[in-house]
Amino acid sequence: MSQTIQSVRGMNDILPGESELWEIFEETIRSWLKSYGYKPIRLPIVEPTPLFRRAIGEVTDIVEKEMYSFTDSLNGELLTLRPEGTAGCVRAVIQHKLAAQHALRLYYLGQMFRHERPQKGRYRQFNQVGVESFGFAGPDIDAEQILMGARLWDDLGLDGIRLQLNTLGQLDERASHRSQLIAYFEKYADLLDEDARRRLHTNPLRILDSKNPAMQEIIVGAPRLMDHLGAQSLAHFEGVQQVLRDAGLPVEINHRLVRGLDYYNLTVFEWVTDRLGAQGTVCAGGRYDGLVEQLGGKPTPACGFAMGVERLLALIRESGGEPAPEGIDVYLVHQGEAASRMAPRVAEGLRDQGIDVLFHCGGGGFKSQMKKADASGAAFAVIIGDDEASAGEVTLKPLRASDGVMNQQKRVSVDRVADEIMNSFLDWEEK
Ligand code: ATP
Ligand code: MG
Repeated sequence: MSQTIQSVRGMNDILPGESELWEIFEETIRSWLKSYGYKPIRLPIVEPTPLFRRAIGEVTDIVEKEMYSFTDSLNGELLTLRPEGTAGCVRAVIQHKLAAQHALRLYYLGQMFRHERPQKGRYRQFNQVGVESFGFAGPDIDAEQILMGARLWDDLGLDGIRLQLNTLGQLDERASHRSQLIAYFEKYADLLDEDARRRLHTNPLRILDSKNPAMQEIIVGAPRLMDHLGAQSLAHFEGVQQVLRDAGLPVEINHRLVRGLDYYNLTVFEWVTDRLGAQGTVCAGGRYDGLVEQLGGKPTPACGFAMGVERLLALIRESGGEPAPEGIDVYLVHQGEAASRMAPRVAEGLRDQGIDVLFHCGGGGFKSQMKKADASGAAFAVIIGDDEASAGEVTLKPLRASDGVMNQQKRVSVDRVADEIMNSFLDWEEK
């Protein structure tokens, strides 16, 4: 017996029953983004490996241990399945000189790949909605992107998602903080865990982000970046908060919020929930003014965020907000030679009128076809036997409880079926 092949660990199939929710979610996302003037951009899933090493930073979890990198055996190119979308988006903006003339707002939606330990809310293939803006330097766009999040949670019927905000200042400000931070943590070298010791001289800011309970006491006493920020950075931070205050959005300032990618400066933020266990961050982002230049483009201020789709869908399901999938309109039952020749034309005619039709395939008697029609969830069965066929008619049979609207099946001429169905849908809506 041959062994069946399974999907790659941590990479999930999304099956009918679940995939409908994804589609509804994606529709909501697209109209939400459109309402803020964001334009879709479609990017490759595979990029040259050096792009991510340069953009995300060598000393990050992603580049150190999470990337699916490989050599294309056909031509020796070093390639990586994208672990996030910003790097590829910036690459495209530079390559096609998109930000040369005016500022722009872009978004994408798609699969990302990280070799992590699969668990609830953490997969090796997962989906992100990414939102990026280029050419806006002021705090207004940061604030707009944060308010976008608040609106989306509302559109999705989600509550209890809190905003955490911080500023990472600029590179020179981080440098002066960094030396103090290293000196501070060196005093407690014995108490640092392995991760922290590894990061101490490469990326000490990341130590602040540690979730290790044993480290919390040391971290709380660490020097604050805030005390190293100049007037401009502070004004930017205040500018963001001002807009959020005016909008009445509650903000938690979290001085320990840093991001797992090196390219951020000034504003960083996360949207978090307590309802998903350890994987509680559903959206994360911030400003990355240096990245375009770092990747070879003209200096261009930029700001963006990414949402984890699986985590948001889990939250939607958890809060009972899952919409009922829409059923099909018609199941088309047909038996007999003349009927079966007429049936495809009837089905196409209905679809011409915008009616969805599940066409019975595979033959069988009326009784077994009607069973399938009942099980399909369709609103109507359109039944064609040779009797109907010779009269140029069909039998229209309502399948769902209909509050007295058209309870009985009836014979209708072929060119009247669509109207009859449409009218009864209207009657249903009125009831
Ligand atoms: P975490 O701290 O949870 O590892 P991160 O900082 O690595 O998150 P980002 O790179 O900022 O995450 O990605 C943005 C969002 O994408 C996260 O907030 C999360 O919702 C989602 N995400 C990241 N990694 C995964 C994953 N492996 N599986 C599912 N969703 C993920
Ligand atoms: Mg991570």
